[in-house]
This record gives sequence, C-alpha cells and structure tokens, in this order.
Amino acid sequence: MHVIYGGTFDPVHHGHLRLALEISERLGDVPVDLVPCHIPPHRGATRATAGQRQRMLALAIEGELRLRIDDRELRRAGASYTADTLRQLRSELGDEVPLVMVVGTDAFAGFDRWREWQQIPGLAHIVVVRRPGSTLAPETEPARLLETRRVGNAQALHADPSGHILELDPPLLDISATGIRERLASGRSARYLMPDVVLTEIQRMGLYGACPGENF
Ligand code: ATP
Repeated sequence: MHVIYGGTFDPVHHGHLRLALEISERLGDVPVDLVPCHIPPHRGATRATAGQRQRMLALAIEGELRLRIDDRELRRAGASYTADTLRQLRSELGDEVPLVMVVGTDAFAGFDRWREWQQIPGLAHIVVVRRPGSTLAPETEPARLLETRRVGNAQALHADPSGHILELDPPLLDISATGIRERLASGRSARYLMPDVVLTEIQRMGLYGACPGENF
C-alpha cells in the first residue's frame, strides 16, 4: 500500500506528525509519504522556501521509518494538481498496488472543485480525517461520493487498488502552522508545538520573524 499525505508544512508541526503516525497504524503499519506542495512565491515573504520546508520535514522525521518525504511536487515547476500527482504515482506503482490519499474533512468538503476530481477515485482510495468544526454538507457532490464509496475498515483498502473512501477519526492536536508563525513573529515561544530540532533550524535560519541564534 502507498499512502500520501499532502500539505504546505510551513512549518511541519506535531499535529501533522501525530496524524501521519495514527494513519500509518490504522492502515496496518504502512509507510506514509508526506508530500509538501508548491507555494506560489507571492504568498508572503517570510514564508519558508521549498528547500527550507523540505529541510524542516527531513529533520522532523529523522529516525522514524514509517514517515517519508516525497518531494515530487516541489521538483515540478508551478503548482501541482493532486490528480497529476496521483496519475504519476499510479504509473510508477502499476495497476495493482493500493494507493491512498489522506485529506481532512475541510478539504474534502470542497473536493468537487479540485481539478479532475472525478478521475481521482479511479486512481486512489481516499482517507477522510474528521476535523473538529468541519462537517460535510448533505446533498453535495462530496457527500454523495462518500455515500456511494464509503467502506467501514482499512482491510477494504488493502483489497483493491483504488475507489474506496474510509473515514477516520483519530485524536488530533490543536496546532496550526499559522499559529506557530504568528507566535514566532511576535517573539513568543513555539516550543513543544513541533520537534525541538525543527525549532532550532527555524531560529538558525531566522525564519518567520524568529531571531537567529535566540534560545527557545
Ligand atoms: P496553515 O496553518 O499554514 O494553513 P496547517 O497547520 O493547517 O497550515 P498544512 O500544511 O496546510 O498545515 O496541512 C497539511 C494537512 O495537515 C492538511 O490536510 C490539514 O488538514 C492537516 N492538518 C493541519 N494541522 C493539523 C493538526 N493539528 N492535526 C491534524 N491534521 C492537521
């Protein structure tokens, strides 16, 4: 089974890392590939570059064999569409290997606005992670898709290469990258929200307004 979990990871934090491990365990101790996405350069000067986000991810997962980084979207010029990424993975994996994409309910609620969204169930399974405060409105395309493709357990995902949707409700940490960037920009501590090694790197690089060389 091949599992991808995409995000901006600007920066990666314990909310992402815990979720990735929970997913790994609930799907049967499979590896989870974190896929950092391209961010257009105009979205704020203090945001980390692709190389910096990738470096922080690498530090965060060091020694954790269940988590890996797939940097294919960073290597492509311009924005990547999930359908393109899945199509590329499908051609690498062949037709038989189960391919799984992890999304939060917030993202899944707008799934029918994704480019080529109707192609996606033919390429991969979808794991929808319930996020507090975010519900799927009934009578919408994503709700209908869930209704017709929902399965009750992870075994069903192992049995087929694509096409099923599994809802998971793992415990989530109330941490956001936005909150971390705001803390650092206003001189507050971001310790214990992410691995110390990532925070040290942020300070070394002077990212997000953190003072270079300053202690936690
Ligand atoms: P930002 O605050 O910059 O929007 P973020 O912290 O939400 O960032 P992203 O990199 O945008 O993080 O998110 C990547 C994926 O991780 C998304 O699917 C998002 O729903 C999920 N995610 C973000 N924070 C958490 C968390 N605390 N627990 C579980 N999942 C999370």
